[in-house]
Amino acid sequence: MIVSGNWKMREDHVEALKLVQTLGSLLHGSGLPKGQEVSIHPPFTSLRTVQTAIESDRVPVALGAQTCHVDDSEPCTGEVSAEMLARLHVSYVIAGHSERRARCGETDEIVRSKLDAIYRHGMRPILCVGETLAERQDGSAPAKVRRQLVAALGGRPAQAVAAAVIAYEPIWAIGTGQTATREDVEEMCSAIRDEVARLVGAGAAASTRIQYGGSVTAETSELLLGVENVDGFLVGGASLDAGRFVDIVLASA
Ligand code: PEP
Repeated sequence: MIVSGNWKMREDHVEALKLVQTLGSLLHGSGLPKGQEVSIHPPFTSLRTVQTAIESDRVPVALGAQTCHVDDSEPCTGEVSAEMLARLHVSYVIAGHSERRARCGETDEIVRSKLDAIYRHGMRPILCVGETLAERQDGSAPAKVRRQLVAALGGRPAQAVAAAVIAYEPIWAIGTGQTATREDVEEMCSAIRDEVARLVGAGAAASTRIQYGGSVTAETSELLLGVENVDGFLVGGASLDAGRFVDIVLASA
């Protein structure tokens, strides 16, 4: 299982330090359940602070970023390259979050180039896919998600796809307090596993971890526990409270 906390545009470097330290003391107290991996994704301005805290306090979490630029060294004012993230010991980079697809013009082609950059620098992508409410209602959700997967992962070596994390995030469930039903999550996550198997074979596809994301809390993560093909959660709002986030980590172990 892998539980990831997406801090979005929250937690400046002072707040981030407090959050990672609290997380550290809670996780040291409870112990990270065996087989459970945790990643946290602060905004760029807090990455260095969080990285030093993780390393000095031995907080049992991996450092993640929320996005990266596609190029390594083209002049591009305001951007941060995958290479710079790798040098900060970032392990996971979110790519294709629906907020960036909708608000920052990230097309499937751009998302694919971001994955290229992430892999080029030895990190793992957390590739977000998911449908709008209209797409869910008109029955096109599985086809849309399959399209997003092919665009980002098609033609890649099996080993690279096996190392990826795929976050199924129905857009209508993000930040709304609504979560998908067990049946919906099961249907979509098995369609995802199926598509990945079609791309790289069942063996490699079995190693790819699939998260569910969308208003996850300790209660919803418990409700979704045991759903086939769900290997973890991508958590937004609830990851900003160390206690609530650790509850999710422990509930989903
Ligand atoms: C997210 O940001 O990916 C997310 C799932 O947010 P929330 O948990 O707040 O819905």
